[in-house]
Amino acid sequence: MTRRGLLLILSSPSGAGKSTLSRMLMAWDPTMRFSVSATTRKPRPGEEDGREYYFRGREDFLAMVADGQMLEHAEVFGNLYGSPRGPVEAAMQAGTDTVFDIDWQGGQQVAQAMRGDVVSIFILPPSIAELDRRLRSRAQDSDEVIAGRMAKSRDEISHWAEYDYVLVNDDLELTFERLKAVLTAERLKRERQPQLSAFVRTLNEEFEAR
Ligand code: ADP
Ligand code: 5GP
Repeated sequence: MTRRGLLLILSSPSGAGKSTLSRMLMAWDPTMRFSVSATTRKPRPGEEDGREYYFRGREDFLAMVADGQMLEHAEVFGNLYGSPRGPVEAAMQAGTDTVFDIDWQGGQQVAQAMRGDVVSIFILPPSIAELDRRLRSRAQDSDEVIAGRMAKSRDEISHWAEYDYVLVNDDLELTFERLKAVLTAERLKRERQPQLSAFVRTLNEEFEAR
């Protein structure tokens, strides 16, 4: 009997480190899958269609929404972003855990739709100065885009208390250790171990055979 795959939601203000942490998590456990979102934003240098995102025009995106193909969707920084439903449902059935890098609006929608299967984690930067430094050091966005993202950070951070866990991403390795600890503990929850009843039955049979 396999358990249902869980849905690990990572949210943070842009630049706090959730893409870095989700990449580390999937390198640590290659059985996990990343929910590749669809977006109407333009690809950044190095981004590939189907790997970081499915890059779509606004019309195509809205057609997917109208067709019920999105588990959640939201407008972030003037672009539409959404999580395709099909791969998530298939992974859950197969007992595969899925990582989402989505904003608070998406986190709320997934939590409402799939409450018992969601583990949500909010990542905070150690300071606003460091958040600004990280956004600049990523060197992938224009000054104007960075300023827009910093302006939205305060709003994103205001949703921290809606999450199950909160990690302050100061030291990357330490934060990663904590992230693994959360995932490991959540996987060990009794209701996520459906094989336990059968296992305890074998223990009882062993008692009876003594
Ligand atoms: P997000 O996905 O939240 O927008 P990223 O994972 O892209 O953020 O991280 C933004 C930048 O900060 C990247 O250049 C990344 O390498 C760097 N970074 C992430 N975590 C840390 C950390 N704990 N210490 C220093 N730099 C970090
Ligand atoms: P970026 O453009 O930097 O890749 O992402 C911008 C923001 O959009 C981030 O906060 C990211 O978590 C969020 N985001 C990415 N994909 C999705 C999605 O499918 N749904 C929602 N709601 N937000 C998303």
